[in-house]
Amino acid sequence: MDEQKKRAALAAKKLTPLALGSIHPTGWLRKQLLIQANGLSGHLDEFWPDVADSSWIGGKAEGWERGPYWLDGVVPLAFGLDDERLKAKVQHWMDYVLGHQQEDGWLGPVLDKQYGYEYDPWPIYVMLKAMTQFYEATKDARVIPAMKRFLRRLDTLLAERPLKSWAKMRWHDLLLSIQWLYERCEEEWLLALAHKLHEQGFNWSSYFIDYPYKEKSTVGEFESHGVNCAMAVKEPALWYRHSQLGQDLAAVERIMQTLDTYHGQATGMFSCDEIVAGKNPSQGSELCAVVEYQFSLEVALTVLGDVSLADRLERLTFNTLPAILSEDMWAHQYDGQANQVICSINEDRIYTTNGPDANIFGLEPHFGCCTANMHQGWPKFVSHLWMKTPDEGLAAIAYAPCHVDTQVGDVPVHIEVETEYPFEETVRVTVAPARPARFPLLLRIPGWAKGATLALAGEEKQEVAAGTFHLLEREWSAATEIVLHFPMTLQTSTRYHGSVALERGPLVYSLQIGEEWRQVGRELPAADWEVHPTTPWNYALQIDREEPERGCVMEARRPGERPFGAAEVPVLLHVKGRRVPEWKLEHNAAGPLPYSPVHSAQPLEDLTLVPYGCARLRITEFPTLAAEK
Ligand SMILES: [Zn+2]
Repeated sequence: MDEQKKRAALAAKKLTPLALGSIHPTGWLRKQLLIQANGLSGHLDEFWPDVADSSWIGGKAEGWERGPYWLDGVVPLAFGLDDERLKAKVQHWMDYVLGHQQEDGWLGPVLDKQYGYEYDPWPIYVMLKAMTQFYEATKDARVIPAMKRFLRRLDTLLAERPLKSWAKMRWHDLLLSIQWLYERCEEEWLLALAHKLHEQGFNWSSYFIDYPYKEKSTVGEFESHGVNCAMAVKEPALWYRHSQLGQDLAAVERIMQTLDTYHGQATGMFSCDEIVAGKNPSQGSELCAVVEYQFSLEVALTVLGDVSLADRLERLTFNTLPAILSEDMWAHQYDGQANQVICSINEDRIYTTNGPDANIFGLEPHFGCCTANMHQGWPKFVSHLWMKTPDEGLAAIAYAPCHVDTQVGDVPVHIEVETEYPFEETVRVTVAPARPARFPLLLRIPGWAKGATLALAGEEKQEVAAGTFHLLEREWSAATEIVLHFPMTLQTSTRYHGSVALERGPLVYSLQIGEEWRQVGRELPAADWEVHPTTPWNYALQIDREEPERGCVMEARRPGERPFGAAEVPVLLHVKGRRVPEWKLEHNAAGPLPYSPVHSAQPLEDLTLVPYGCARLRITEFPTLAAEK
């Protein structure tokens, strides 16, 4: 047998997500998800025509991506919270869609005149992601046959109607569902279909080898489109399962590095408003790109199992995501900026392809894609906190308070994660199988956590290596507590124009600017808001880049009812700085960052930095003051 044939038809995953509904948020994370359920996510289908009256469910409004987008986030929200009201909404949608499959197997509307074309498969890619999650939670017997019928239909259509437009750029989102289906039925034609899609789809892995967009782009193209790039991060990982070529595994890192190098922002996000926009922290990042980057990392993790991907996932989830949503999660921005000093409607703007209202908080600033797509961010983070390993083990991928109910072999296992992480350094994990069982437990030790320790069942604590999955292989009998300690030291990174950003553990810190929220449209609770600064923002920091903790004081509190609210900030960082009068507003954004170091004759002031996610107006990349003689 040659090498090729000895390989499995589909390479095994290193990590497999637990069945949806196995992981329940607790503590601050539950508060956050309840805010979401009580906010736009839990009500969008009641009043927003493109979901409420979607052609997907027999209505007259949009019948393209918006309904599926909403569902793709609300399915994990409903089952993660075990919320009957939301589950009923999901059931209504699934019953309609599964009950109205076209004669020829197509799912949903054959044509959305406004955005799509006849037999545009892109919106079904999204619907299938929602459906596979729904199946994981319910085992609804209609799902797999419906998916097969649709994919058979698509298979015959591809010869006469090859992939184009969004369906071509995002083909790997369908690959994900094909792999999911193959793992459940092992029908060979699905693998052939996967190869057909790969041939017709855009090849992101090779595109990033000689990447053309090395600075702010001014032309809207599919290849420079931020959401496409964020989605592309998972493409080589998914295709690796078919190709089994090391170059595909390596391409994930290459795509991320390339985006960091030319468009990276302090939070681990890249600029895209909505095309890639360079490293200037006054440029924005589209909300859809944020949640798609999160999801790409969650998917890439299943194939690569790399700690660094989970580190990045936490960084996006704990910083970029909450900051681009209002505290009550009724309003969102289309574009959020690392240095965001005013959110207002203005024709004079810094964005190339986004409109004058792209950074206000509202129901659908600029365009309604994010209104529909924002819902997946938090719930999918919850459903990927823990995963299974191929040898029947369990792995902690990311940390936040939750409990897990799953099975190892035939033994029910309950896990409690008690922590205020990322607002504290200690995570307590209690493993409690229903009866004694031997299985491996993998605990992620973040790459930044130098000097991390682990104490097992009251034993002496031992140091564990940062940037690894620490393996505990033993017989687990009675409830066993593991105490993890991740020292969060203050770190600096050098950013745009030699500026500095401050981070501590997974959190990035920003200057808290006074916010005045002015309602400028619509009605509560889904109103549109401008946010105007009430305090100065043009500060340079007095900071020792090598030893930033000298001269900075941390103040730990506890997360409040709104974990990422401005009023009850869970952790503060006190620093000193001076204003830089020549640094002013330009094009309705913080003007070009003065090159560091800067001189300032202004008085030295005490400044308060807060987690990025708590600040809807903020400076994140600061000029630094020249050392005083
Ligand atoms: Zn969007």
